[in-house]
Amino acid sequence: MNARDILDKLVAFPTVSRDSNLELVDWVEAYLADHGVTARRVWTEDRQKAALYANIGPEVEGGIVLSGHTDVVPVDGQDWDTDPFTVVEKDGKLYGRGTCDMKGFDAIALAAVPLALERRVKRPLQIALSYDEEIGCTGAPPMIDDMAGHLPRASAAIIGEPSMMQAVTGHKGTFGYWANFRGFEVHSSLMHRGVSAIMEAGRLIEWANRMNDENRTKPPSEIAAMFDPPWTTVHVGEIHGGTAHNITARDARVQIEVRAVPDETLESWDAALKSEIARIEAGMRAVHPDAGIALEPMFDVPGLQPEAEGRAEELVRRITGDNGSHVVSYGTEAGQFQERGYSAVICGPGDIAQAHQPNEYLTVAQFEAGQRFVTQVIDRLCA
Ligand SMILES: [Zn+2]
Repeated sequence: MNARDILDKLVAFPTVSRDSNLELVDWVEAYLADHGVTARRVWTEDRQKAALYANIGPEVEGGIVLSGHTDVVPVDGQDWDTDPFTVVEKDGKLYGRGTCDMKGFDAIALAAVPLALERRVKRPLQIALSYDEEIGCTGAPPMIDDMAGHLPRASAAIIGEPSMMQAVTGHKGTFGYWANFRGFEVHSSLMHRGVSAIMEAGRLIEWANRMNDENRTKPPSEIAAMFDPPWTTVHVGEIHGGTAHNITARDARVQIEVRAVPDETLESWDAALKSEIARIEAGMRAVHPDAGIALEPMFDVPGLQPEAEGRAEELVRRITGDNGSHVVSYGTEAGQFQERGYSAVICGPGDIAQAHQPNEYLTVAQFEAGQRFVTQVIDRLCA
């Protein structure tokens, strides 16, 4: 099977993040087994999904990980001209959900398996396919932890998110919460005896505004300066609450998200947020002891730090000849590999602008560029 055959196969599994990916995983496992490669699964607790990884070649250190995710975003409400779960080639473009983000790269990595075996690589090719990337990169961490216990350590991890085959060496880290405010209801004419969840939530929003104002006036660090915008942002994306104009709101929910430049830690931002929550909550409790704020974690994805002389970056630059410095504003699994000690870089076919869109596509030219790239990765593993 060539990369295109594999892509057709992978896209045909409608692995939207909310659904199981096991049919795809079964297929990939069987494909690898046909080549004599034993893969290992890392299951979710409910066993509805699994990540899959494998070592191709000798069990020695110094290999290269090609990392992708198996899940795709939904097509609900999107106007597609073709069946999203069938690859349709037209005018040099491969249409289909996930062709760009990122089953194209997955297919290229899998198609390289027979080549790696045939060429008898001296250091292993490692393939790592996660789940639930699209809902907050929650599938990769247990997979990477499991790899550490079962595979010889690779010297570089290439995360094949669409980057137009450029070396992307940094992205912001991000985390988000639902902040659930519980107030105390009284008639609004006596609002001093009640706690308005809405008005208390407003204090948190005001904190977000203040942080943004402060952050944008600080001179950016060298790393921060690569980003647009070159500062950490605090955003409130949703707010719900209240029942009537004359009742202090009992409930309000606010969705708050921090996107931190990679040289500011998510831990310090998390601590800053929690201390503000504690401050607001103390004021609420002073009025009524049942009032308070419960934080519900939504996602937590570490940033990718540009590495000083990183091996992954160097490898990608040598192969692609790309010497520009690129960072992206979306989170990926690259930061999670890096956090666990891998030298990590993002490099994959396709343009992120086509990801998640109706009529998502990957150009044939990018698909082929990706295949040439992985062939050269295998050359390096033979050297
Ligand atoms: Zn992706």
